[in-house]
This record gives sequence, structure tokens and C-alpha cells, in this order.
Amino acid sequence: MQELEAIVSELGEPRFRARQIYAGLYRHRRCDWNSFTDLPQPLRDSFSRRFRIAYPNTVRMFLSADGTRRYLLEVAGGHRIESVFIPEDNRDTLCISTQVGCAVECLFCVTGKLAMRRNLTAGEIVGQVLALQADRHTDLKRLNIVIMGMGEPLLNYDNLMTALRLLADPLGFSISPRRITLSTSGIVPGLDRLAREDIVPNLAISLNATTDDVRDRLIPINRKWSIAELLEACRRFPLDPRRRITFEYVLIAGINDTPEDARRLVKLLQGMKKKVNLIPLNADPWLSLQAPSEERILAFQQILVQHHITACIRRPRGQDISAACGMLAGREQQQADPPLPQKRGHS
Ligand code: SAH
Ligand code: SF4
Repeated sequence: MQELEAIVSELGEPRFRARQIYAGLYRHRRCDWNSFTDLPQPLRDSFSRRFRIAYPNTVRMFLSADGTRRYLLEVAGGHRIESVFIPEDNRDTLCISTQVGCAVECLFCVTGKLAMRRNLTAGEIVGQVLALQADRHTDLKRLNIVIMGMGEPLLNYDNLMTALRLLADPLGFSISPRRITLSTSGIVPGLDRLAREDIVPNLAISLNATTDDVRDRLIPINRKWSIAELLEACRRFPLDPRRRITFEYVLIAGINDTPEDARRLVKLLQGMKKKVNLIPLNADPWLSLQAPSEERILAFQQILVQHHITACIRRPRGQDISAACGMLAGREQQQADPPLPQKRGHS
């Protein structure tokens, strides 16, 4: 809004024009300057000469048998990113990306196998909501946003925060931060910074292991911020009385799925306001890992439940179109382009 105010005053227009333009862009989601009929023609003309309204280009939409939609989007530089729309009975969820690729390189994640290309701009982050709206008009009142697509959001902090402000702004999308969930692999300084913001989404932490040895192997940034440091940051994160932190735990056969792991998890999370999402690994030919058996998954859940921890098993949505957690890789680009440089170490 401040940027728009500066531009309209430079053009000698009253400040309220900035508000009109902002509402046109983000509330009414107009994508052509000619449709800003509440602006005088000369102002429309000078904006259309100087600025282009660009949504990420939808290269392809994949529709799953379960109604999930995966969008392959192109952003500046010809990069491909993905977002996933998951319709449910009483709400819809859009999973959005924050980076092209990811530098964290988790052993179990297909996005982590890609080269980290660049951060998405705030416009490209909110542009994913606009691209969805352009394909399939969705009632924003029932839309939840999960920042769980490609990339580590807390490593693109400033653009992420600008995007969160645009999403939350009552003059724009008006999506309450309560309906936005940010998932992080555990960037401790980012969590501490987020804790001091005026707009704070729900928090999901990709814990995925109960010992530093295993977590170091699965999520290399654990060598920088250990489990103890991460959980300490979670404990000091200010939570509204009705909020709790979600701990995500990807279950991987033979690596983090033992009853001892479940018992250690109970201990680690003691005294926190939390719930646990158990995510059986979505296997992929790019990964040499498997999900545990159903029996083992249920046994793990049982131990948490016995200790009064809310623990849900997250069943994948959109698996037939590679839209499930950790599957986002812009694969269609991978097939078209020469192979991306493979990252170190994960074989
Ligand atoms: N970078 C952020 C958000 C994107 S990943 C983070 O790591 O939290 C979103 C979630 O998908 C994380 O909880 C991650 O642990 C999970 N995930 C990644 N690869 C997966 C896979 N192959 N199967 C199941 N879940 C996976
Ligand atoms: Fe990056 Fe998250 Fe995938 Fe890890 S799980 S590589 S942090 S996107």
C-alpha cells in the first residue's frame, strides 16, 4: 500500500486512489487495468504504460480422482513451481510454495532433490492464490492456506512476511492468519523473528526424528539447530490460548518408526500445547526409502494416544497426480529440461 501511495502521489493523484487500486488488485482481483472503471482514464493509462498485472502462468492443471488439483505454474525466468488445491466437505485447502527448489535437502523429500534456484517474490507467493481463483473460483471464506509446498518458508523470510500481510489484509484477500499454517523444517532464528510479528500464522514443525543422529541424517540443518534448540524455540513461541503447535512426523520404515521413537517423542513434547500429524512417507522412485507397514504406523500412533497426545495419521491426497506431501518437483519440467544438477550426499 505504501508503494502504491508513493506512485499515485508522484502522479499528482489523491491518496485514496492507492486504496482503490489495492482493492482492485487484491480484493476484486482484476487483472486488466481497463477493468479499473473506478479510476479516471488518464490514471488507468499511465498505470498500464508502467505496470503489468501478471499472475503466475498456469502451465497445466492435474486433476486427481479425489478432487485434488495440482497446478504447475511458471514464474519469471521460466521456473516451474507447484501449488495444490484440496477440496474438503467443510473447507478447502491450498498448499503453496515459497521457493523454486529447496536448499535444506531433506533425505525424504523430492523437492529437496532439486537445485535451489531462487526465492519466490511476495507477488509470486500470493499469485498462487490468484492462479487458483482464475481456474476455479473458490470462496475465500472457506479457504485455508498451508505453506507446505516447495521450499523452506523461513529461508525466504521478508517475501514471506509481505505475502502474509497481503493475504491477511482486510482490504485484500482478508484471509485470517488463523486460517494460514506455516510449516518449517526448523530454522530457529526465523521462528524467533516470526514470534515478534504482528501477523502470526499457525505453526507446523517438521520434526521427523527423535534423536539428533537420525535428524542430522534426514534434515541436514539439524546440525545447525538441534532438536533441543528447536523445541526450546517452540516453547518460547507465544501461542494464543486456543492455538497449539502441530508437529509433523514423516514415518519412514526402519529409520524413525520404532516404539522407542514413539516413546521418545512423547517425552520430547511433554508440557507443550501440541498435536502430532503422522505422515507415512510418500515413496517415490527418486527416494530410496519406504513407508512403514500399516501395523507399525498404527502401533506408533497408539503409543502417542495412550499418552494423551492428539495424533492423526495423514492419508495422502492427490497421490495419483504426484500432489502428496514432499512430491512437488515440477516433474514435467524435469522431463523437458536437461537434468538438474544433483545435490551432494543423498544416495
Ligand atoms: N519446507 C517446509 C515446508 C514444505 S515440506 C518443511 O519442511 O516443513 C511440507 C511437509 O512435507 C513437511 O512436514 C515434510 O516433512 C513433509 N514431507 C516431505 N517429503 C515427504 C515425503 N516424501 N512423504 C511425506 N511427507 C513428506
Ligand atoms: Fe525443503 Fe521442506 Fe522438502 Fe525439507 S521437507 S527439502 S525443508 S521442502
